[in-house]
Amino acid sequence: MVEEKLKAVIRDIPDFPEPGIVFKDITPLLQHPELVDLAVKEFVKRLSGIEFDLIAGIESRGFLFGFLLAQELKKPFIPIRKQGKLPYKTVSESYKLEYGQATIEMHEDAFPAGSKVLLHDDLLATGGTVVAASKLIEKVGGEVAGFSFVISLDFLQSQGRLTRFSEKIISLVG
Ligand code: 5GP
Repeated sequence: MVEEKLKAVIRDIPDFPEPGIVFKDITPLLQHPELVDLAVKEFVKRLSGIEFDLIAGIESRGFLFGFLLAQELKKPFIPIRKQGKLPYKTVSESYKLEYGQATIEMHEDAFPAGSKVLLHDDLLATGGTVVAASKLIEKVGGEVAGFSFVISLDFLQSQGRLTRFSEKIISLVG
């Protein structure tokens, strides 16, 4: 099963980035091209019921599979980045973290109004990051067509925060 194969190479790193947090590290997966290929094919299979025009990936691990997937499906890819990284005019959205806040940005001309966007990130935890990214998409007149993640933690609880944007949520692990 794809999920079991991916789980076997994703490792848990205790106390990263802070004591008490167990970080899911996907970097070992990137060292197995055959598993990366398997993951991309599984995404493609599970995305077949979702209609979208382009994929937006969230910095930085969302760029890895997000871009591969966009290439595989021959769709445009757009990066959503942390504040101050994108060179052209941007729209931005701030959101709360456990301590403090974060801001993400996207180029204001990233796609034409009315576009259907698949949002991709490596991991879904509380959902705060993709909720902010969904608001960015809507700010420039786009529609969130669905979400894809390599891993989702605590899926049912976070899912509730995403369904107001789209009910189509795919995750390969969890
Ligand atoms: P959320 O906003 O859903 O609480 O957190 C998800 C965001 O934080 C994603 O952008 C993800 O890359 C990052 N993140 C949080 N925890 C982990 C983790 O354990 N492993 C990885 N790879 N990313 C994480």
